[in-house]
Amino acid sequence: MPQLAQRVGRAKPSAIMVIAEKAKQLKAAGRDIISFSIGVPNFLPGDHVYQAAREALSHDSGQYGSNRGADALLDAFLKHIEALGFSGYGRANLSIGIGAKQVLYNLAEAMLNEGDEICFAAPYWTTYHDIADIVGAKANVLHCGPSQNYKLTPAQLETALARKPKVFLFNNPSNPTGMVYTREEIAALADVLVKYPDTWIVTDDIYNSMVFDGIGYHNFVFARPELRDRLVFVDSVSKTYGMPGWRVGLIAGPESVAKAVTTLNSNHITSVPEVITAAAVAAFSGPQDIPQAKCKEFAEKRDIVVNALKAIPGVVCPRPQGAFYAFPDISVAFGKSHNGKRLENDVDVCAALLEAKGVACVPGSAFGEPLAMRISYTCPTAQLQPGLDRITQFFAELT
Ligand code: PMP
Repeated sequence: MPQLAQRVGRAKPSAIMVIAEKAKQLKAAGRDIISFSIGVPNFLPGDHVYQAAREALSHDSGQYGSNRGADALLDAFLKHIEALGFSGYGRANLSIGIGAKQVLYNLAEAMLNEGDEICFAAPYWTTYHDIADIVGAKANVLHCGPSQNYKLTPAQLETALARKPKVFLFNNPSNPTGMVYTREEIAALADVLVKYPDTWIVTDDIYNSMVFDGIGYHNFVFARPELRDRLVFVDSVSKTYGMPGWRVGLIAGPESVAKAVTTLNSNHITSVPEVITAAAVAAFSGPQDIPQAKCKEFAEKRDIVVNALKAIPGVVCPRPQGAFYAFPDISVAFGKSHNGKRLENDVDVCAALLEAKGVACVPGSAFGEPLAMRISYTCPTAQLQPGLDRITQFFAELT
């Protein structure tokens, strides 16, 4: 029998999908399930996006498109990133992918040789580790626990960069914690980054439109423009515009990187379809009222979630300030029992919570932090409080 390549063995099925699948099965069996597990936005893009897609369909050329992304999309993205605070970028700094996920794979392929080191903070988005594993890079995971609000400190970054990793991958706002770095925190990390010129910097900031409490979105290049030569900003239409299934991600970075990603595209995907491109142009350049309203709604839901979790004795929830996740430390439950079943760890807690109360959350170990679990609060508002009440009850029943 021929053997599959080693990289397949290194890729693990997503723990988020495992929980989501179990929740689906219970639902199909007639159980009343509230899902806090999947991180997809609960809204659709505006009518203008559908109109643009329909219009494009009516005169679709059916041809292959640009490996870099159509000029109209690149221009719309340039305006979008200018509004975020990036200045001086042109089309040559950009490239495209089938969602931010594929963009991140392309960047890993473009930057990392086998055995090279990539560092990133934990809790991390699950795919980061898988990308490193698949391309054969060594991941140096920088543990940032609940006691430091899940945020990377300049001292931790300094220690990691002293090892001269090839890539530093950063995520702000964070999935799974919802943490957002302030202008000052970003500036302090940028001060460290400038000292280590041999490391590429990738900022995966696809939740940049979902920042609460007036903190704003900040990037290292805003603080230290000299980082521009080796920093790549990653964005996507998935979360901002409620378009996760449309699969459009983009980068802005040095020309050499944009070119490398475009070359990889020419071999991997060729191009993003015309209809999807038209929809993405409409999303970036059309009215921004939906993302703005959603940001407000998520901030309100965040308050409901955090208040409920804070009221549970022993549960600690650093206050998220962006995205749509909360990441409470639930270790108070470890070593206790629920309905006579002993809970050793985060996986046991999430399994028992789903079984006993019908609430699906994702164990923190999927994100490199076994003390916690992730609550994604994109569910309908009417389900939020009942779901939180069930979690509260679950913890009250521990013996
Ligand atoms: N980065 C982070 C931090 C994410 O949470 C996600 C999606 N869950 C992605 C990237 C991938 O997004 P896309 O849908 O654009 O592939």
